[in-house]
Amino acid sequence: MSLIARKKRAVSAARAAGVDALLVTHLPDVRWLCGFTGSNAALILVGAPRSRAVLFTDGRYTSQAKAEAVGTQVVIAAKPAVTAACEWMVEAGVRRCGFDGTHTTIASLDAMRRAVPAKVRRGLFVAVEPLVARLREIKDAEELKRTRAAAALGCALFDRMLGYMQAGMTETAVAAELEHAARLAGAEAMSFETIVASGQRSALPHGRATTAKLPKRGFVTLDFGVVLDGYCSDMTRTVHMGRGSIEERNAYDAVLEAQETAVAAVRAGVTAGDVDEAARSVLRRAGLDKWFTHSTGHGVGLEIHEGPRLAAKQTQKLEAGMVVTIEPGIYLPGKFGLRIEDMVVVTAKGGEILTPSTKAWVEL
Ligand code: ZN
Ligand code: ZN
Repeated sequence: MSLIARKKRAVSAARAAGVDALLVTHLPDVRWLCGFTGSNAALILVGAPRSRAVLFTDGRYTSQAKAEAVGTQVVIAAKPAVTAACEWMVEAGVRRCGFDGTHTTIASLDAMRRAVPAKVRRGLFVAVEPLVARLREIKDAEELKRTRAAAALGCALFDRMLGYMQAGMTETAVAAELEHAARLAGAEAMSFETIVASGQRSALPHGRATTAKLPKRGFVTLDFGVVLDGYCSDMTRTVHMGRGSIEERNAYDAVLEAQETAVAAVRAGVTAGDVDEAARSVLRRAGLDKWFTHSTGHGVGLEIHEGPRLAAKQTQKLEAGMVVTIEPGIYLPGKFGLRIEDMVVVTAKGGEILTPSTKAWVEL
C-alpha cells in the first residue's frame, strides 16, 4: 500500500468518525502515514473540500522531512509543531478536527486550544478512537517483508546464543552479547529492553537482565527483539541449564502445548479471545492456568506493542495481514518460570510462524 493509499484510508476513517480533518501527533502514526521518521512532528490530514496532507516539524529536519515525506506538504515551523498545525487548520477552514485521545496529553490539548481563536474553538477538537492505530494493525506487503526480516534476525541471534550461554555467566553478559551481535547485523535498536531471567528469576515475567549468574541447573528465559527498517521483532525461548527435573519438563511440555495450540487456533475470522482461550485451556487441563498471569499476545509492527490484544474475552476478530505474538508462560514464585513466544502472521488459512527457532526442550 502506498503512502497515498494510507492517507486516503485515514481520511475515510476520519469522515466515518464524523470529523473533516485528523491531527496526528503519535510518531509511529505519523511515520506510517507520511514516511517521516523525525522526533518532532504534527501531521494534518484534511478530507474536504479537497484532500490535503501537511507535515509540521522544525528546522533540524528540513532536508530529512522533504526526503522522507514524499507527497506530503512540509512546513518548517519556528513554534511547536502542534501549535503551527492548529493555526494552519483554522486558516484552511477546518470545522471539526479529530485527534487520538489515547496519545494526547492534557498539556498538548491545552496547547491545541490556545493555538486557535476563541470564536472557532468550540467543537473544533474532537477526541476520536485511535483510527490510525486500527489501520496499522493490518500490514501490507512491504511491512510484512520488513517484519519477516526483523523476525529472521531474531532467530539467527537466538541460535547464536545457544552456542554462547554457559553456567556462571551473568545475565547482563548474555544480553550484551545478544545486543552487540544484533547491532553488527544491522539492527537500528532493540525493540525493548532485553529480558534474560535465569534460575528463580525466571519466575519474573519481565525479568530484565541483571548481574545474576546463569545457574548450573535451572531455566533461562530470553525475550528480546530487534528493530530493522522501523519494524520490531519479538520472540521468547526458555532453555534449561543442566538436567531438568520431571516437574520442570512437565511444565515446559504444558507451556509448549499451550503455545502450539494457540498458534494452531490463529486464522482470519476467529476472535482474539478464542486464541487466548486456546492457550489457557491447555494450561487449565494441566492445573497450571493460575500461574499464567498475562495475556496470550499482542500485535507487533512499528511499535513493539500494538493491537490487537490477544486476551481473555476479547471479541475483536483477527484479520489477514495482522502480525501477532503468541506467548503463554507460567511463573511459579520462588521456583521457576518459563515462556515461549512466536510471531505469527494471520492469514485466511491459518497462522504462519515468523520465528521458527527450535522450541524443543534444550539443555545446555
Ligand atoms: Zn517478547
Ligand atoms: Zn511479546
